[in-house]
Amino acid sequence: MKSVIRFFSSCILGIALLASLTSCEKPLGPQTRLYMGTVCSLSLFDKGTSGLYENMFTRLQEIEQTFSVNIPTSYISLINANAGKKPVSVPQEVILVLQEALRIAKKTDGAFDPTIGPLVALWGIGSDHPKVPSQEEISRVLPLIDYSKVIIDTQYNTVFLEKEGMALDLGGIVKGYAADQLTLIAQEHGVKQAIIDLGGNIYAYGTKNGSPWNIGIKNPRDPAGAPIIKLQTENKSIVTSGAYERFFEQDGVRYHHILNPKTGYPQENEVISSTIISESSMLADALSTSSYILGCIQGLTLIESEKAEGIMIREDNQVFATPAVVPTLTILNPEFSLQQNILP
Ligand code: ADP
Ligand code: MG
Repeated sequence: MKSVIRFFSSCILGIALLASLTSCEKPLGPQTRLYMGTVCSLSLFDKGTSGLYENMFTRLQEIEQTFSVNIPTSYISLINANAGKKPVSVPQEVILVLQEALRIAKKTDGAFDPTIGPLVALWGIGSDHPKVPSQEEISRVLPLIDYSKVIIDTQYNTVFLEKEGMALDLGGIVKGYAADQLTLIAQEHGVKQAIIDLGGNIYAYGTKNGSPWNIGIKNPRDPAGAPIIKLQTENKSIVTSGAYERFFEQDGVRYHHILNPKTGYPQENEVISSTIISESSMLADALSTSSYILGCIQGLTLIESEKAEGIMIREDNQVFATPAVVPTLTILNPEFSLQQNILP
């Protein structure tokens, strides 16, 4: 009996010791892993325990497993495999992200279109073998890109693509959704300051010891070089779309990954970079891709109508921003200049 009591009391002592050890565990520094084809870096400045980092990376993996078109068992792949055949039951979060993507698709008259899948596949964007398709191949897939043919049943939580060959690709919005989800986990665990960076899709959560965070905007002409703009912000997401993020070259021509659903080609206009600032990273992600495609005037109009902020850089190095964000900007590179009043 005595030995049993001794066993239990040493167990209790062990647990107490463990608890006191974990309660004063030193926060870990930034942790980086690869998910969704990009470098994901989490910095939990005040409460970065290994358990919390693990928790957040597990959630990231779960989102990838749910949404990736490159994972054959993902819900998005299942919806695509059943295009023209039957509706597929999906978790609530798939409905939620898809509804937001469709809302933006409608609002941009299809410039942003989550049914861009067949075109992304044709160009081999993000694959090991990207290639320029023939005009004939492009003409064949363009009729499959049509957001109005995505049928969501909110009663039974199903998604159906009306035409065979249609395919969803949520690459223009899902990193934003993931950043929002990780921010939520940080918040639930009482984290006060964190930077969640999913391949440039950033959530600057809380403040930097009571002051705004300084976020750099990359030079679209030299993304590995020094940032060209400093932006001060707190508790917001900052998402940039640029042609320099993912591209390939063929016969001396550069082709990037933001596609125009009407022409079937990478969008070429005056825009070289578009940054959105918003409390919702999902919205910021969708708007950055959309505004890049729409161009400066329509892009900034869209951003303002969504109550978000934006900074768009034009080919002639002129920088345009929504009014509220202007006082928070510092141009760091004299080759670029801030212009006011692009909107009529
Ligand atoms: P990144 O993936 O570099 O963060 P974006 O958020 O701008 O860049 O998203 C680009 C991705 O969005 C592409 O890789 C593709 O998966 C998808 N996409 C490309 N063109 C469109 C479009 N017109 N509408 C919706 N999604 C698109
Ligand atoms: Mg985007």
